[in-house]
Amino acid sequence: MNVYIFLLLIVVVVIDVLEASSDDITKQHYEKSVLKNHKDITRIKEKLGQWKNSVVTKLTSSETNHQKRTARHLTSKRNSVGNQPITLTELNKDLLDVLYQVDMFLTEKQWDDFLSKTNGKNRRKRQASSSSFRLWAMPIPYYIDTTTVDAHTKDLIEQGVAFWQNYTCLRFTELTAPSSPCVQFIKDNGCYSYIGYNRIIQDLSIGVGCEHFGIITHEINHALGVFHEQSRYDRDSYITIDFTNIQPASINNFNEETNTTTTNHNVPYDYGSVMHYGEADFAINPSIPNIYAKEAYQQNTMGQRFKPNFNDLLLINTHYSCLENSGSGTLPLFFTIEYPISETLD
Ligand SMILES: [Zn+2]
Repeated sequence: MNVYIFLLLIVVVVIDVLEASSDDITKQHYEKSVLKNHKDITRIKEKLGQWKNSVVTKLTSSETNHQKRTARHLTSKRNSVGNQPITLTELNKDLLDVLYQVDMFLTEKQWDDFLSKTNGKNRRKRQASSSSFRLWAMPIPYYIDTTTVDAHTKDLIEQGVAFWQNYTCLRFTELTAPSSPCVQFIKDNGCYSYIGYNRIIQDLSIGVGCEHFGIITHEINHALGVFHEQSRYDRDSYITIDFTNIQPASINNFNEETNTTTTNHNVPYDYGSVMHYGEADFAINPSIPNIYAKEAYQQNTMGQRFKPNFNDLLLINTHYSCLENSGSGTLPLFFTIEYPISETLD
């Protein structure tokens, strides 16, 4: 055999092997996730796919898409907030075809609600306390699966739970074994949570790379029923999204909720919410933003993952009626606590 042809064959074989192993690594990553074994996972993937198609059409044809960028970008301070070297987007990159907006796992019923809303059918008012999005009764039972969660992560989870308990009227109780309903903390691949109370043992994953107080409190907030800040129905008054700098396959992650499906409880929009995307998540060119704060000086505060800030706490305290009940003497007056809000903005 001609030596050149032989060498060419060797090169082709090596490239095939490398490509196959790369695919396998991605597949193995996904295959390792317990989400893969969820009983409804096939239907959930199908529903996410249907929803994605409809929402992308809506988003890319919306007026927002044609808005001029009004905010100047303060590049010198980019990523100065959060001290978080890796984003949820990167940590969950292999789970995006089963998760809603990066890190939320919706039940099949919740997907049906979304689809009926998107398709304009069954437009019932869905506050978080009704329909498939419900509030927890107190105390909220949780279980930490120490067969997967290491001691350091367990400690951080307990700190996260304690934080929500200390600054709200929410009460939690730790279980010694998983029992329905409860939030079950696990260490799966990636960081994700169910949204709200679902009457089941609902996994909340703190995977490798997710072991940060800010991410843990973020995921717990999803379990309490809170969506991402930049998906609020009033977001267009506060941010401009540059859809031309979003990877086309990820545009669905920039959808917004509606005021018939969610409530903001009159809590102000907060660029520094622990629930806000970073300025360049899913960017085609990550060196420039795809979310511009209309108040330019707020550009640096988006995407912080230190901890929930004052308005994150206010939303939960309002959503769970902590303020109405605070006169009973049995619940903490969260607003008397001097909360170090400035720490989230440094
Ligand atoms: Zn999230």
